[in-house]
Amino acid sequence: MRHRLLVPGAVALSLLLAIPASAADFTPGAPGVGDTYYPESGNGGYDVSHYDLRLKYQPKTDLLEGTATLLATTTQDLSRFNLDFGLKVSEIRINGKKAAFATSGKHELEVTPATPLEKGKQISVVVRYAGKPSELKIDGYCAWARTPDGGVIAQEPDAAVWWFPSNDHPTDKATYDISVAVPDGTQALSNGVLASQSSKLGWTRYNWRSDKPQATYLTTLAVGKFDITNDKTANGLPVVNAVSKDLGANEGSAKASIERTTEITEWLESVFGAYPFNAVGGYVPNVPAHYALETQTRPFYGKKAFDRGTNVSVVVHELAHQWYGDSVSLKDWKDIWINEGFAAYSQWLWSEKEGEGTAQELADYVYAQHPADDPFWTVKPGNPGAENQFDGAVYDRGALTLQALRNKVGDKAFFGLLKSWPTENRYGNASVADFVKFAEKKTGKQLAGFFDTWLFQPTRPSAGAAKQALGASHAPVAAPKSWKQIAATHDVHGH
Ligand SMILES: [Zn+2]
Repeated sequence: MRHRLLVPGAVALSLLLAIPASAADFTPGAPGVGDTYYPESGNGGYDVSHYDLRLKYQPKTDLLEGTATLLATTTQDLSRFNLDFGLKVSEIRINGKKAAFATSGKHELEVTPATPLEKGKQISVVVRYAGKPSELKIDGYCAWARTPDGGVIAQEPDAAVWWFPSNDHPTDKATYDISVAVPDGTQALSNGVLASQSSKLGWTRYNWRSDKPQATYLTTLAVGKFDITNDKTANGLPVVNAVSKDLGANEGSAKASIERTTEITEWLESVFGAYPFNAVGGYVPNVPAHYALETQTRPFYGKKAFDRGTNVSVVVHELAHQWYGDSVSLKDWKDIWINEGFAAYSQWLWSEKEGEGTAQELADYVYAQHPADDPFWTVKPGNPGAENQFDGAVYDRGALTLQALRNKVGDKAFFGLLKSWPTENRYGNASVADFVKFAEKKTGKQLAGFFDTWLFQPTRPSAGAAKQALGASHAPVAAPKSWKQIAATHDVHGH
């Protein structure tokens, strides 16, 4: 939105002069949404409501060809606007008419319509493109992973630019139809439900639908050869799990972990309220990565997440994100605690339920593990900085904060918050400050000082604060049984 100077004289003048919009009123959309950590992420001037991606992928060559149709609404008078994208574009049409385009910055595509676009209008943008995602490097980095039998995209915070043009920021969520043709015998997995599948002339096309708002980085594609299981939860929610056929020694542990998805989803519903999407599941491609990612309805798990055997804790973490991170998304990447603090704490609650250490024991352990001079305490979970966005402290101190909150407000109020936050903010965006206000309103307690101590100070909360909030003893605390798996989830989002 442009900000006009609203002095009385200017208002009177604009009333007199601004009856027909003049060309001067149409300005370029901003090249970013103004994110604190990633200024180039997303774009200004429009809001996408739906992505239709019609793709074809050849695993042998890594060639991805596609047509993306975006439905959007303009939020200002636009002379041109940007998309975030890295592959080579051959044609763009806006409302059916050819548009001019040019590349700029690290991943910006500047699109100029044949005629300027008025504010508040629905537009369609069709982008034809082709390229090899594995050859696209941004600052020397490639988010697309090739596997022996295909390719996978699941990364945070940047993933979309490697495979489809978008307004690449979590504040612009949209629904998706993702249709991918791959050679017969190979599968294409994505978000939501498989609406249909058909084969013709050696190619099989998979049509996936995700019908609730979804952030660009949570949109995933995996092409390869998988063992797929289809099931339904007790409530009738479709469950699609997929494990690569060439996981070798990790096959059993991967399957044993993600086949707990239905049970874990049902347990999480008892903690967080109704599941927010049209499907659930998970997939393990042959990507030699330790990390996992909460891709919407279908989390990604790197093969190495199961190097030490089954890891149910990481499945709990990624499924908890479906409420905390996916349905309720952050407003700005500095608000990462809104996602990770809660996903990490859900692992503590699972541990408590399984009798492998209570959340209190885990909190006492984390506090005792890090003496006051440990650099651990210099990372502020409430605004860790881009370089520490996925630091272990965001997870551990982030979860510790929630245990301290639980002790401060009591179990009834605390578990009430865990359920009402994703329910009342469903499909929206929120900041850490929004959560603080929400917790104060729901509990009737002043909590700003409390959250400042636990989330925003680069120091260890004092023994007094910890005692009050945690009841932490200063005797040595043994590691709860669940700790090893929880700690192994810490590099879940590391590149
Ligand atoms: Zn996470």
